[in-house]
Amino acid sequence: MTKLTPDDLNLVPFVSVDHMMKIVLGIGVENVLTGICEYLEEDFKRWELFDKTPRIASHSNEGVIELMPTSDGQVYGFKYVNGHPKNTKEGLQTVTAFGVLADVNTGYPLLLSEMTILTALRTAATSAMAAKYLMPEGSKTMAMIGNGAQSEFQALAFKAICGIDKLRLYDTDISATDKCIRNLDGLGFDIVKCDSEQMAVEGSEIITTVTADKQYATILTDNMVGSGVHINAIGGDCPGKTELHKDILLRSEIFVEYPPQTRIEGEIQQLPDDYPVKELWQVMTGEVEGRTNNKQITLFDSVGFAIEDFSALRYIRDQLESTGQFQYLDMLADPDDPRDLFGMILRAALPAKQDGE
Ligand code: NAD
Repeated sequence: MTKLTPDDLNLVPFVSVDHMMKIVLGIGVENVLTGICEYLEEDFKRWELFDKTPRIASHSNEGVIELMPTSDGQVYGFKYVNGHPKNTKEGLQTVTAFGVLADVNTGYPLLLSEMTILTALRTAATSAMAAKYLMPEGSKTMAMIGNGAQSEFQALAFKAICGIDKLRLYDTDISATDKCIRNLDGLGFDIVKCDSEQMAVEGSEIITTVTADKQYATILTDNMVGSGVHINAIGGDCPGKTELHKDILLRSEIFVEYPPQTRIEGEIQQLPDDYPVKELWQVMTGEVEGRTNNKQITLFDSVGFAIEDFSALRYIRDQLESTGQFQYLDMLADPDDPRDLFGMILRAALPAKQDGE
């Protein structure tokens, strides 16, 4: 057992990519996904308590860099995240991220963590949590269109949390589908490799779209979507970047994380600003109905919200003592007299000077 709070408060626990991989492998991917889902449920059910703001985005031609802050009044958190669809062609990730938790009382950081892997985990756990409330009962088959970095996490979350064991995969780049099939081999799925979106959605109760392209794309057209399905729309997550034809939205009951952000970034940017949508947290607290019949099309218009990162960081922080997978970073200056920051620099020079004497 490694003690998480050091005697020296200026040392901040840091979770590197290597630590994160060891945590995930040690606990097991599906256990981590269900664990994060529990923390998400806890935080979604106390939604009103949080500070909320649409994320702060800096757009460029090639992508977007965003900050995602929130606080529950005791702990503050934020994530830095980018989205650059052209990156994979250069051997880089589309999405990378890191995040911080801090003590509201002192403002001192409590945790600094990699969040590229953690974002994939929390996005998948959030998708599966939403589907648990919205999918047709007894769903077993999911179409997944887009088989890139997020895809295996999505598949495993739907298996662990919703009981999905059949996948129908399609990607415009066949090597992405092959990679996904290889990675999921032996993990308990029946997998069908499809050669079109149309083929992928056939017989699927859940349709996940998780493609990356900075444009108004039409991954699904209206005729592809039969009644009764649940759509988990992940890839349309910033202005000018959507995946579904507008007609699908008009036939669906739409569920979102935080409407002010989703109206800017989600599929519903295609609809008028006052178009009625339901908030997922209210379905979870029972204030609003989720799926009401087996003919209804339910759509989770996911964009990713700060509270989900907060939950995921809380989960990781709670795994650190038992796993020991972190190191301390000397991140905060600590003069003996808090007002003598400059003197601290001067004193740091002294031993060097003495050595030279
Ligand atoms: P990625 O680049 O690793 O994978 C995207 C895949 O989509 C690629 O394999 C690509 O070939 C495929 N693709 C592109 N256009 C397609 C099309 N028309 N039909 C079928 N496949 C197509 O990206 P990723 O990290 O897996 O992320 C996927 C998307 O999810 C991105 O747009 C990202 O911004 C978004 N995302 C959303 C959330 C959220 O919370 N909603 C979180 C993380 C990522």
